[in-house]
Amino acid sequence: MHHMTLAEIARGLAEKKFSSEELTKTLLARIALLDPQLNSFISLTEDLALQQAKAADARRANGESGALLGAPIAHKDLFCTQGIRTSCGSKMLDNFKAPYDATVVAKLAAAGTVTLGKTNMDEFAMGSANESSYYGPVKNPWNLEYVPGGSSGGSAAAVAARLLPAATGTDTGGSIRQPAALTNLTGLKPTYGRVSRWGMIAYASSLDQGGPMARTAEDCAILLQGMAGFDPKDSTSIDEPVPDYSASLNGSLQGLRIGVPKEYFSAGLDPRIAELIQTSVKELEKLGAVIKDISLPNMQHAIPAYYVIAPAEASSNLSRFDGVRFGHRCENPKDLIDLYKRSRGEGFGPEVQRRIMVGAYALSAGYYDAYYLKAQKIRRLIKNDFMAAFNEVDIILGPTTPNPAWKLGAKNSDPVAAYLEDVYTITANLAGLPGLSMPAGFVDGLPVGVQLLAPYFQEGRLLNVAHQYQLNTDWHTRTPTGF
Ligand code: GLN
Repeated sequence: MHHMTLAEIARGLAEKKFSSEELTKTLLARIALLDPQLNSFISLTEDLALQQAKAADARRANGESGALLGAPIAHKDLFCTQGIRTSCGSKMLDNFKAPYDATVVAKLAAAGTVTLGKTNMDEFAMGSANESSYYGPVKNPWNLEYVPGGSSGGSAAAVAARLLPAATGTDTGGSIRQPAALTNLTGLKPTYGRVSRWGMIAYASSLDQGGPMARTAEDCAILLQGMAGFDPKDSTSIDEPVPDYSASLNGSLQGLRIGVPKEYFSAGLDPRIAELIQTSVKELEKLGAVIKDISLPNMQHAIPAYYVIAPAEASSNLSRFDGVRFGHRCENPKDLIDLYKRSRGEGFGPEVQRRIMVGAYALSAGYYDAYYLKAQKIRRLIKNDFMAAFNEVDIILGPTTPNPAWKLGAKNSDPVAAYLEDVYTITANLAGLPGLSMPAGFVDGLPVGVQLLAPYFQEGRLLNVAHQYQLNTDWHTRTPTGF
Protein backbone atom coordinates (compact mmCIF):
# COMPACT_ATOMS: atom_id res chain seq x y z
CA MET A 1 0.00 0.00 0.00
CA HIS A 2 2.79 2.42 0.87
CA HIS A 3 4.23 2.34 -2.65
CA MET A 4 1.18 3.98 -4.14
CA THR A 5 1.35 7.44 -5.64
CA LEU A 6 -1.33 10.06 -5.04
CA ALA A 7 -2.83 9.23 -8.44
CA GLU A 8 -2.97 5.51 -7.57
CA ILE A 9 -4.45 6.26 -4.17
CA ALA A 10 -7.17 8.41 -5.75
CA ARG A 11 -8.07 5.55 -8.11
CA GLY A 12 -8.01 2.97 -5.30
CA LEU A 13 -10.25 5.10 -3.09
CA ALA A 14 -12.67 5.78 -5.95
CA GLU A 15 -12.85 2.04 -6.72
CA LYS A 16 -13.33 1.28 -3.00
CA LYS A 17 -10.28 -1.02 -2.95
CA PHE A 18 -9.43 0.39 0.48
CA SER A 19 -10.59 3.26 2.67
CA SER A 20 -8.66 6.37 3.62
CA GLU A 21 -8.82 5.19 7.23
CA GLU A 22 -7.12 1.87 6.36
CA LEU A 23 -4.47 3.63 4.32
CA THR A 24 -3.88 6.21 7.07
CA LYS A 25 -3.45 3.49 9.71
CA THR A 26 -0.99 1.63 7.47
CA LEU A 27 1.11 4.73 6.89
CA LEU A 28 1.06 5.80 10.55
CA ALA A 29 2.32 2.33 11.52
CA ARG A 30 5.04 2.58 8.87
CA ILE A 31 6.11 5.99 10.17
CA ALA A 32 6.27 4.63 13.74
CA LEU A 33 8.43 1.74 12.53
CA LEU A 34 10.80 3.52 10.15
CA ASP A 35 10.97 7.19 11.01
CA PRO A 36 13.27 6.74 14.01
CA GLN A 37 16.03 6.04 11.43
CA LEU A 38 15.25 9.15 9.42
CA ASN A 39 13.94 11.79 11.86
CA SER A 40 11.78 13.24 9.10
CA PHE A 41 8.90 14.30 11.37
CA ILE A 42 8.88 16.91 14.15
CA SER A 43 5.28 16.19 15.16
CA LEU A 44 2.86 13.43 14.31
CA THR A 45 -0.85 14.23 14.23
CA GLU A 46 -2.39 10.75 14.49
CA ASP A 47 -5.71 11.83 16.01
CA LEU A 48 -6.28 14.57 13.46
CA ALA A 49 -5.27 12.16 10.66
CA LEU A 50 -7.77 9.49 11.69
CA GLN A 51 -10.50 12.06 12.12
CA GLN A 52 -9.79 13.56 8.66
CA ALA A 53 -9.58 10.08 7.08
CA LYS A 54 -12.96 9.07 8.50
CA ALA A 55 -14.47 12.36 7.32
CA ALA A 56 -13.04 11.83 3.82
CA ASP A 57 -14.44 8.28 3.70
CA ALA A 58 -17.84 9.65 4.72
CA ARG A 59 -17.67 12.31 1.99
CA ARG A 60 -16.85 9.64 -0.60
CA ALA A 61 -19.70 7.47 0.68
CA ASN A 62 -21.96 10.49 0.06
CA GLY A 63 -20.93 10.56 -3.58
CA GLU A 64 -18.19 13.19 -3.43
CA SER A 65 -14.98 12.65 -5.39
CA GLY A 66 -11.70 14.48 -5.89
CA ALA A 67 -8.08 13.50 -6.37
CA LEU A 68 -7.13 14.69 -2.88
CA LEU A 69 -10.18 13.40 -0.99
CA GLY A 70 -8.68 11.01 1.59
CA ALA A 71 -5.07 11.48 0.43
CA PRO A 72 -2.46 11.31 3.23
CA ILE A 73 0.11 14.10 3.23
CA ALA A 74 2.30 16.04 5.66
CA HIS A 75 3.18 19.70 5.97
CA LYS A 76 6.59 21.24 6.37
CA ASP A 77 6.65 22.56 9.92
CA LEU A 78 6.55 26.20 8.86
CA PHE A 79 2.96 26.06 7.64
CA CYS A 80 0.79 27.19 10.54
CA THR A 81 -1.58 24.47 11.74
CA GLN A 82 -4.25 25.51 14.19
CA GLY A 83 -3.76 24.09 17.67
CA ILE A 84 -0.73 22.08 16.54
CA ARG A 85 2.90 22.93 17.23
CA THR A 86 4.42 24.90 14.35
CA SER A 87 8.09 25.03 15.26
CA CYS A 88 9.83 26.10 12.04
CA GLY A 89 12.61 23.76 13.16
CA SER A 90 13.54 26.19 15.95
CA LYS A 91 13.82 26.16 19.71
CA MET A 92 12.33 29.66 19.45
CA LEU A 93 8.97 28.18 18.41
CA ASP A 94 9.20 24.83 20.18
CA ASN A 95 6.23 25.86 22.33
CA PHE A 96 4.25 27.63 19.58
CA LYS A 97 0.83 26.29 18.71
CA ALA A 98 -0.49 28.25 15.76
CA PRO A 99 -3.84 29.96 16.38
CA TYR A 100 -4.92 29.50 12.74
CA ASP A 101 -4.29 27.39 9.64
CA ALA A 102 -2.11 28.65 6.78
CA THR A 103 -4.12 29.14 3.59
CA VAL A 104 -2.33 26.17 2.01
CA VAL A 105 -3.22 23.97 4.99
CA ALA A 106 -6.85 25.13 4.96
CA LYS A 107 -7.21 24.67 1.19
CA LEU A 108 -5.74 21.17 1.25
CA ALA A 109 -7.86 20.20 4.25
CA ALA A 110 -10.96 21.43 2.43
CA ALA A 111 -9.96 19.26 -0.55
CA GLY A 112 -10.00 16.31 1.84
CA THR A 113 -6.32 15.64 2.56
CA VAL A 114 -5.31 13.76 5.69
CA THR A 115 -2.47 15.40 7.66
CA LEU A 116 -0.15 12.75 9.12
CA GLY A 117 2.19 15.24 10.71
CA LYS A 118 4.60 18.15 10.45
CA THR A 119 7.95 17.51 8.81
CA ASN A 120 11.44 18.38 9.97
CA MET A 121 13.28 21.27 8.35
CA ASP A 122 16.29 23.52 8.66
CA GLU A 123 15.74 26.15 11.33
CA PHE A 124 13.59 28.93 9.80
CA ALA A 125 14.23 27.26 6.41
CA MET A 126 17.86 28.37 6.41
CA GLY A 127 20.04 25.63 5.02
CA SER A 128 20.54 23.00 2.34
CA ALA A 129 21.21 19.95 4.47
CA ASN A 130 18.52 19.88 7.16
CA GLU A 131 21.28 19.94 9.76
CA SER A 132 20.32 23.26 11.34
CA SER A 133 17.07 21.90 12.81
CA TYR A 134 16.65 22.16 16.58
CA TYR A 135 15.11 18.67 16.35
CA GLY A 136 18.27 17.10 14.92
CA PRO A 137 19.34 16.27 11.38
CA VAL A 138 17.25 14.31 8.91
CA LYS A 139 18.89 11.29 7.24
CA ASN A 140 18.75 10.55 3.54
CA PRO A 141 16.93 7.22 2.96
CA TRP A 142 19.32 6.49 0.06
CA ASN A 143 22.19 6.38 2.53
CA LEU A 144 21.59 7.11 6.20
CA GLU A 145 25.03 8.69 6.55
CA TYR A 146 24.14 11.38 4.02
CA VAL A 147 22.06 14.56 4.20
CA PRO A 148 18.68 14.66 2.43
CA GLY A 149 19.12 18.29 1.37
CA GLY A 150 17.20 21.17 2.84
CA SER A 151 15.48 23.06 4.00
CA SER A 152 12.46 20.83 3.22
CA GLY A 153 14.56 17.76 4.09
CA GLY A 154 11.93 16.13 6.31
CA SER A 155 9.27 16.25 3.60
CA ALA A 156 11.81 14.90 1.11
CA ALA A 157 13.08 12.01 3.25
CA ALA A 158 9.57 10.97 4.30
CA VAL A 159 8.24 10.84 0.74
CA ALA A 160 11.39 9.17 -0.64
CA ALA A 161 11.16 6.49 2.08
CA ARG A 162 7.53 5.81 1.15
CA LEU A 163 6.25 6.92 4.55
CA LEU A 164 3.65 8.90 2.60
CA PRO A 165 3.02 9.78 -1.05
CA ALA A 166 3.50 13.56 -1.00
CA ALA A 167 4.18 16.55 1.22
CA THR A 168 4.31 20.31 1.12
CA GLY A 169 7.59 22.20 1.04
CA THR A 170 8.76 25.77 0.65
CA ASP A 171 11.45 27.17 -1.58
CA THR A 172 13.28 30.44 -0.89
CA GLY A 173 16.46 29.54 -2.73
CA GLY A 174 15.95 25.90 -3.66
CA SER A 175 14.45 24.22 -0.61
CA ILE A 176 11.91 22.20 -2.60
CA ARG A 177 14.02 21.41 -5.67
CA GLN A 178 17.35 20.66 -3.98
CA PRO A 179 16.08 18.11 -1.42
CA ALA A 180 13.90 16.62 -4.18
CA ALA A 181 17.05 16.15 -6.27
CA LEU A 182 19.02 14.64 -3.39
CA THR A 183 16.31 12.09 -2.54
CA ASN A 184 15.00 11.15 -6.03
CA LEU A 185 11.73 13.08 -5.91
CA THR A 186 9.90 15.48 -8.15
CA GLY A 187 9.50 18.91 -6.56
CA LEU A 188 7.98 22.09 -7.92
CA LYS A 189 8.56 25.68 -6.86
CA PRO A 190 5.68 27.66 -8.34
CA THR A 191 5.78 31.21 -9.72
CA TYR A 192 6.07 33.77 -6.92
CA GLY A 193 2.48 34.67 -6.03
CA ARG A 194 0.90 31.45 -7.32
CA VAL A 195 0.58 29.84 -3.87
CA SER A 196 -0.49 31.88 -0.85
CA ARG A 197 2.17 32.65 1.73
CA TRP A 198 -0.41 33.48 4.39
CA GLY A 199 0.41 31.40 7.46
CA MET A 200 3.79 30.35 6.10
CA ILE A 201 6.36 31.54 8.64
CA ALA A 202 8.41 34.05 6.67
CA TYR A 203 12.11 33.63 5.96
CA ALA A 204 12.68 36.01 3.00
CA SER A 205 9.27 37.25 1.93
CA SER A 206 10.16 38.33 -1.61
CA LEU A 207 11.59 34.86 -2.36
CA ASP A 208 9.52 32.36 -0.30
CA GLN A 209 7.04 30.16 -2.15
CA GLY A 210 5.25 26.97 -1.10
CA GLY A 211 4.93 24.00 -3.44
CA PRO A 212 4.46 20.25 -3.80
CA MET A 213 6.98 17.42 -3.29
CA ALA A 214 6.09 13.96 -4.54
CA ARG A 215 7.57 11.06 -6.47
CA THR A 216 6.04 11.94 -9.84
CA ALA A 217 5.10 15.00 -11.85
CA GLU A 218 1.58 13.61 -12.03
CA ASP A 219 1.36 13.79 -8.23
CA CYS A 220 2.89 17.28 -8.12
CA ALA A 221 0.10 18.37 -10.48
CA ILE A 222 -2.52 16.94 -8.12
CA LEU A 223 -1.03 18.54 -5.00
CA LEU A 224 -0.37 21.90 -6.67
CA GLN A 225 -4.00 22.00 -7.79
CA GLY A 226 -5.02 21.96 -4.14
CA MET A 227 -2.46 24.62 -3.10
CA ALA A 228 -2.58 27.23 -5.87
CA GLY A 229 -4.88 30.20 -6.20
CA PHE A 230 -5.46 33.82 -5.31
CA ASP A 231 -5.61 34.69 -1.63
CA PRO A 232 -6.78 38.15 -0.58
CA LYS A 233 -4.95 37.62 2.74
CA ASP A 234 -1.56 37.61 0.95
CA SER A 235 -0.86 40.94 -0.73
CA THR A 236 1.69 39.33 -3.07
CA SER A 237 -0.73 36.62 -4.19
CA ILE A 238 -1.60 37.02 -7.87
CA ASP A 239 -5.16 36.91 -9.14
CA GLU A 240 -4.62 34.64 -12.14
CA PRO A 241 -6.92 31.73 -12.95
CA VAL A 242 -5.54 28.32 -11.91
CA PRO A 243 -5.38 25.98 -14.89
CA ASP A 244 -6.13 22.25 -14.69
CA TYR A 245 -2.60 20.98 -14.06
CA SER A 246 -3.43 17.29 -14.55
CA ALA A 247 -4.91 18.13 -17.95
CA SER A 248 -1.61 19.74 -18.98
CA LEU A 249 0.43 16.55 -18.46
CA ASN A 250 -0.24 14.91 -21.79
CA GLY A 251 0.80 17.59 -24.29
CA SER A 252 3.28 16.54 -26.96
CA LEU A 253 6.85 17.78 -26.67
CA GLN A 254 7.18 17.99 -30.46
CA GLY A 255 8.95 21.24 -31.30
CA LEU A 256 9.37 22.30 -27.64
CA ARG A 257 12.42 24.57 -27.49
CA ILE A 258 14.70 23.69 -24.58
CA GLY A 259 17.52 26.06 -23.71
CA VAL A 260 20.67 24.77 -22.04
CA PRO A 261 22.72 27.64 -20.56
CA LYS A 262 26.44 27.33 -21.20
CA GLU A 263 27.20 28.79 -17.75
CA TYR A 264 25.67 25.70 -16.11
CA PHE A 265 28.58 23.50 -17.17
CA SER A 266 31.36 25.30 -15.33
CA ALA A 267 34.11 23.87 -13.17
CA GLY A 268 31.92 23.54 -10.06
CA LEU A 269 29.68 20.87 -11.60
CA ASP A 270 30.42 17.20 -10.86
CA PRO A 271 31.24 15.76 -14.33
CA ARG A 272 29.13 12.68 -13.60
CA ILE A 273 26.11 14.93 -13.06
CA ALA A 274 26.94 16.81 -16.28
CA GLU A 275 26.81 13.48 -18.11
CA LEU A 276 23.42 12.55 -16.64
CA ILE A 277 22.07 15.96 -17.64
CA GLN A 278 23.24 15.37 -21.23
CA THR A 279 21.50 11.98 -21.17
CA SER A 280 18.24 13.59 -20.06
CA VAL A 281 18.61 16.17 -22.84
CA LYS A 282 18.93 13.35 -25.39
CA GLU A 283 15.86 11.65 -23.94
CA LEU A 284 13.83 14.84 -24.38
CA GLU A 285 15.19 15.25 -27.93
CA LYS A 286 13.85 11.77 -28.72
CA LEU A 287 10.44 13.03 -27.59
CA GLY A 288 10.59 15.84 -30.14
CA ALA A 289 12.20 18.69 -28.20
CA VAL A 290 14.66 20.98 -29.96
CA ILE A 291 17.77 21.88 -27.97
CA LYS A 292 19.35 25.34 -28.12
CA ASP A 293 22.48 26.68 -26.46
CA ILE A 294 21.70 29.80 -24.48
CA SER A 295 23.49 32.10 -22.04
CA LEU A 296 22.59 33.52 -18.61
CA PRO A 297 25.52 35.93 -18.31
CA ASN A 298 24.77 37.23 -14.80
CA MET A 299 24.37 33.84 -13.16
CA GLN A 300 27.78 34.11 -11.47
CA HIS A 301 26.45 36.99 -9.34
CA ALA A 302 23.40 35.12 -8.08
CA ILE A 303 24.86 33.56 -4.92
CA PRO A 304 26.37 36.78 -3.56
CA ALA A 305 23.15 38.69 -4.35
CA TYR A 306 20.93 36.03 -2.77
CA TYR A 307 23.08 35.81 0.37
CA VAL A 308 22.60 39.56 0.88
CA ILE A 309 18.90 39.80 0.04
CA ALA A 310 17.71 36.67 1.87
CA PRO A 311 19.51 37.47 5.16
CA ALA A 312 18.41 41.13 4.91
CA GLU A 313 14.76 40.10 4.70
CA ALA A 314 15.28 37.44 7.35
CA SER A 315 16.80 39.89 9.82
CA SER A 316 13.70 42.02 9.44
CA ASN A 317 11.19 39.12 9.50
CA LEU A 318 12.78 37.47 12.52
CA SER A 319 12.77 40.64 14.61
CA ARG A 320 9.25 39.70 15.70
CA PHE A 321 10.66 36.84 17.79
CA ASP A 322 11.57 38.88 20.84
CA GLY A 323 10.40 36.75 23.74
CA VAL A 324 7.49 39.11 24.42
CA ARG A 325 4.45 37.97 22.46
CA PHE A 326 5.24 34.37 21.58
CA GLY A 327 8.10 31.97 21.29
CA HIS A 328 10.93 31.23 23.68
CA ARG A 329 11.40 33.55 26.66
CA CYS A 330 14.53 33.44 28.84
CA GLU A 331 14.29 32.85 32.60
CA ASN A 332 14.32 35.83 34.98
CA PRO A 333 15.22 38.72 32.66
CA LYS A 334 16.88 41.69 34.44
CA ASP A 335 15.31 44.24 32.13
CA LEU A 336 13.85 44.56 28.64
CA ILE A 337 17.20 44.52 26.82
CA ASP A 338 18.27 41.44 28.77
CA LEU A 339 14.94 39.80 27.82
CA TYR A 340 15.51 40.45 24.11
CA LYS A 341 19.15 39.46 24.15
CA ARG A 342 18.85 36.23 26.05
CA SER A 343 15.54 35.11 24.54
CA ARG A 344 16.94 35.54 21.03
CA GLY A 345 20.38 34.22 21.94
CA GLU A 346 18.88 31.07 23.48
CA GLY A 347 16.05 30.61 20.98
CA PHE A 348 17.96 30.91 17.68
CA GLY A 349 20.62 28.48 16.53
CA PRO A 350 23.99 29.52 15.05
CA GLU A 351 22.98 29.60 11.35
CA VAL A 352 19.96 31.80 12.07
CA GLN A 353 22.07 34.14 14.21
CA ARG A 354 24.66 34.35 11.42
CA ARG A 355 21.99 35.32 8.87
CA ILE A 356 20.43 37.92 11.19
CA MET A 357 23.83 39.52 11.69
CA VAL A 358 24.68 39.49 7.97
CA GLY A 359 21.25 40.90 7.12
CA ALA A 360 21.29 43.63 9.75
CA TYR A 361 24.78 44.64 8.61
CA ALA A 362 23.79 44.79 4.93
CA LEU A 363 20.79 46.97 5.78
CA SER A 364 22.60 49.34 8.12
CA ALA A 365 23.19 52.99 7.23
CA GLY A 366 26.39 53.33 5.25
CA TYR A 367 26.33 49.76 3.93
CA TYR A 368 22.82 49.68 2.48
CA ASP A 369 23.86 51.12 -0.91
CA ALA A 370 27.00 49.04 -1.14
CA TYR A 371 25.35 45.70 -0.40
CA TYR A 372 21.57 45.64 -0.38
CA LEU A 373 20.94 48.07 -3.23
CA LYS A 374 23.68 46.46 -5.31
CA ALA A 375 22.17 43.02 -4.72
CA GLN A 376 18.76 44.31 -5.84
CA LYS A 377 20.31 45.62 -9.05
CA ILE A 378 21.87 42.22 -9.71
CA ARG A 379 18.47 40.68 -9.08
CA ARG A 380 17.05 42.77 -11.92
CA LEU A 381 19.91 41.77 -14.26
CA ILE A 382 19.23 38.11 -13.51
CA LYS A 383 15.55 38.56 -14.28
CA ASN A 384 16.44 40.34 -17.53
CA ASP A 385 18.70 37.42 -18.54
CA PHE A 386 15.76 35.05 -18.13
CA MET A 387 13.38 37.31 -20.03
CA ALA A 388 15.84 37.42 -22.94
CA ALA A 389 16.30 33.65 -22.83
CA PHE A 390 12.57 32.97 -22.80
CA ASN A 391 12.24 34.96 -26.02
CA GLU A 392 14.16 32.13 -27.64
CA VAL A 393 13.16 29.00 -25.71
CA ASP A 394 10.16 27.52 -23.89
CA ILE A 395 12.04 25.77 -21.09
CA ILE A 396 15.51 26.07 -19.56
CA LEU A 397 17.18 22.83 -18.51
CA GLY A 398 20.19 22.07 -16.33
CA PRO A 399 21.33 20.34 -13.16
CA THR A 400 19.45 21.03 -9.92
CA THR A 401 22.62 20.82 -7.84
CA PRO A 402 26.34 20.78 -8.61
CA ASN A 403 26.93 17.70 -6.41
CA PRO A 404 24.97 14.74 -5.08
CA ALA A 405 24.14 14.53 -1.34
CA TRP A 406 27.10 14.90 1.02
CA LYS A 407 27.93 13.16 4.28
CA LEU A 408 26.27 14.46 7.43
CA GLY A 409 28.53 17.07 9.00
CA ALA A 410 30.80 17.41 5.94
CA LYS A 411 29.99 21.07 5.28
CA ASN A 412 29.16 22.15 8.83
CA SER A 413 32.30 24.14 9.46
CA ASP A 414 32.13 25.93 6.11
CA PRO A 415 28.81 27.72 5.52
CA VAL A 416 29.99 29.10 2.17
CA ALA A 417 30.54 25.55 0.84
CA ALA A 418 26.88 24.85 1.61
CA TYR A 419 25.76 28.18 0.07
CA LEU A 420 27.51 27.21 -3.20
CA GLU A 421 25.21 24.18 -3.50
CA ASP A 422 22.37 26.63 -4.31
CA VAL A 423 23.99 27.94 -7.48
CA TYR A 424 21.41 26.46 -9.90
CA THR A 425 18.28 26.98 -7.85
CA ILE A 426 18.40 30.52 -6.41
CA THR A 427 18.13 32.35 -9.75
CA ALA A 428 14.51 31.18 -10.12
CA ASN A 429 13.66 32.70 -6.72
CA LEU A 430 15.45 35.96 -7.51
CA ALA A 431 13.44 36.22 -10.74
CA GLY A 432 10.21 34.77 -9.27
CA LEU A 433 10.06 32.02 -11.92
CA PRO A 434 8.65 28.52 -11.54
CA GLY A 435 11.13 25.62 -11.40
CA LEU A 436 10.92 21.86 -11.12
CA SER A 437 13.44 19.17 -10.22
CA MET A 438 12.97 15.60 -11.39
CA PRO A 439 15.01 12.39 -10.99
CA ALA A 440 17.67 11.92 -13.68
CA GLY A 441 19.90 9.08 -12.48
CA PHE A 442 22.40 8.15 -9.79
CA VAL A 443 26.01 8.84 -8.86
CA ASP A 444 27.56 6.39 -6.36
CA GLY A 445 24.06 5.23 -5.43
CA LEU A 446 22.90 8.78 -4.68
CA PRO A 447 20.13 10.46 -6.70
CA VAL A 448 20.70 13.30 -9.14
CA GLY A 449 18.09 15.83 -10.27
CA VAL A 450 17.56 17.70 -13.50
CA GLN A 451 16.01 21.15 -13.18
CA LEU A 452 13.51 22.71 -15.59
CA LEU A 453 12.62 26.42 -15.49
CA ALA A 454 9.73 28.06 -17.32
CA PRO A 455 8.25 31.55 -17.82
CA TYR A 456 5.86 32.96 -15.21
CA PHE A 457 2.75 30.85 -14.55
CA GLN A 458 3.92 28.03 -16.85
CA GLU A 459 3.82 25.39 -14.10
CA GLY A 460 1.70 23.29 -16.46
CA ARG A 461 4.50 23.29 -19.03
CA LEU A 462 7.03 22.11 -16.43
CA LEU A 463 4.71 19.33 -15.30
CA ASN A 464 4.02 18.37 -18.90
CA VAL A 465 7.73 17.99 -19.74
CA ALA A 466 8.45 16.13 -16.51
CA HIS A 467 5.50 13.78 -16.97
CA GLN A 468 6.46 12.92 -20.56
CA TYR A 469 10.04 12.33 -19.40
CA GLN A 470 8.77 10.07 -16.61
CA LEU A 471 6.63 8.06 -19.03
CA ASN A 472 9.86 7.24 -20.85
CA THR A 473 12.33 6.79 -17.99
CA ASP A 474 12.17 4.90 -14.71
CA TRP A 475 14.53 6.85 -12.42
CA HIS A 476 11.58 8.20 -10.42
CA THR A 477 10.35 4.66 -9.66
CA ARG A 478 13.59 3.58 -7.93
CA THR A 479 13.17 2.89 -4.22
CA PRO A 480 15.86 3.20 -1.55
CA THR A 481 16.92 -0.15 -0.08
CA GLY A 482 15.26 -0.85 3.24
CA PHE A 483 12.23 1.29 2.47
N1 GLN B 1 19.81 26.96 1.00
C1 GLN B 1 19.17 28.23 0.85
C2 GLN B 1 19.28 29.03 2.12
O1 GLN B 1 19.79 28.53 3.07
C3 GLN B 1 17.73 28.05 0.46
C4 GLN B 1 16.83 27.74 1.57
C5 GLN B 1 15.39 27.75 1.19
O2 GLN B 1 15.04 27.68 0.01
N2 GLN B 1 14.53 27.86 2.18
O3 GLN B 1 18.91 30.17 2.16
